[in-house]
Amino acid sequence: MVFYRKYRPQKLEELDITGVREKLSSIVKSGDIPHAFLFAGPKGLGKTSAARILTKAISCKRSVSQRLASSSKSKKLNAEHYQLDADIEPCNKCDACISITNGSNLDVIEIDAASNRGIDEIRELREKIKFTPLALVRKVYIIDEVHMLTTEAFNALLKTLEEPPSHALFILCTTEPWKLPETILSRTFFVQFEKPTPQEFLRSIGRIVKAENLQMDNDVFDEIFDLSSGSFRDGAKIIEELSMASKDKRITKELLETSYKTHSIENEIYVLLVSLESKKTKEALLVVDRLACKGMDFKVVTEKIVGYLHNMLLKRAGLSTIRQEVNKDIKDLDVYQLEKLIEYFSAAYKELKFSVLSQLPLEMAIIKWCEIDVGDQRSKIKDQKETEKREDKSDKDTKTVTQKENTNLPDSNKTNNGQDLLKELIDRIKVDSQTVAGVLRSCRLQIKDTEITIIAPSKFHNDKLSDVKIKEIVAKRAGEIMGKKIELTVQMKK
Ligand SMILES: [Zn+2]
Repeated sequence: MVFYRKYRPQKLEELDITGVREKLSSIVKSGDIPHAFLFAGPKGLGKTSAARILTKAISCKRSVSQRLASSSKSKKLNAEHYQLDADIEPCNKCDACISITNGSNLDVIEIDAASNRGIDEIRELREKIKFTPLALVRKVYIIDEVHMLTTEAFNALLKTLEEPPSHALFILCTTEPWKLPETILSRTFFVQFEKPTPQEFLRSIGRIVKAENLQMDNDVFDEIFDLSSGSFRDGAKIIEELSMASKDKRITKELLETSYKTHSIENEIYVLLVSLESKKTKEALLVVDRLACKGMDFKVVTEKIVGYLHNMLLKRAGLSTIRQEVNKDIKDLDVYQLEKLIEYFSAAYKELKFSVLSQLPLEMAIIKWCEIDVGDQRSKIKDQKETEKREDKSDKDTKTVTQKENTNLPDSNKTNNGQDLLKELIDRIKVDSQTVAGVLRSCRLQIKDTEITIIAPSKFHNDKLSDVKIKEIVAKRAGEIMGKKIELTVQMKK
């Protein structure tokens, strides 16, 4: 049996989300059980497990006998009594508990609204709900993914919820409570399943580690928490895979790193950031190349890079991050540089979707960053501001500054008709891909009738533009501008 099922919580005490555990325990303790619950929250947090535990807690023969003994005098269960001496936990040993756990109890009906939208089930539910339960005190309907019910099924359910027989209990589960009509929300007792805190997550994972006699290194936990995005189900799966990979029941950081390649990403990103800090274009591009060879998802890689930069930025602002993701800080990067890097990599992230080659946007961001002189730009801005201040004082027109800036720009557009074509080509290519346009910006064009040669300044530019798909697009756009079919060649600058 897989770990997630094997170690599914079976008692109220094993519900790891504190809010949920406390809320359900106090309700069971009070003995005043609502007719309908709504369990809402992301998947993998144990909503259906909690529904079964709640069912068992109110149906368990041991607890029931205790309860009936105390409630014989009054119809309403005496809350105070249970708080004092009733065991609110299901025993998990009696017929009722066992049959609920293994799903064979006829009084507990589980409906998965996602699989068939529930029309037949809800109809059947309406017909049969009037019959009293066979063995339990309550007839329990657990409806999973309730927001998937059809309108027809919803209306049928609503009618039942309006006037439920006293023996019925509904536990509705959903990942998308906002899709439910107000009429359902107002008739149910709402229980929010929030993503667990690291402590709650450890509580859940720790149970498995203990039961399996595993030894888990402390520093592994944070990584597992990150990898599973806080989902108990995913966490259990990771522990299971690691326990199978381990030869001696030890879960070490090395084992996690080799199994999930976490090491390579983390370390490579660090190397990348160090290269960026010292503007070593080649080293930085090599990191991207290595990640590409390993088949890394560049969406994940870019997210991680921006995440690191973001954390460093917060650190500079005096905010320590919630999770210490940046163990190795790159101290020489200042706030201004971090902002620029975040800007470039965020732009690369947007580009990923449209990029012909998945690593290209990242490579372009690296080149762009390594080519600009941030220090120089910063002093330019400072100079400009100071000039503006001075000129404001002497009431002079600030246009002179702009003019001065313009004269500094290389006049590459007007040198020959190749450059005119290049300018127009870049404008058109921008629509297809910003990154290809970016690569072209550093190139030159030579035109001879229908033959166009792109002169690439580096091997990087040459390789990118020689890609069949990219070349095709460039040739097509150039052909459109010139109004004839053209032959395109790419060659390195000698
Ligand atoms: Zn029991």
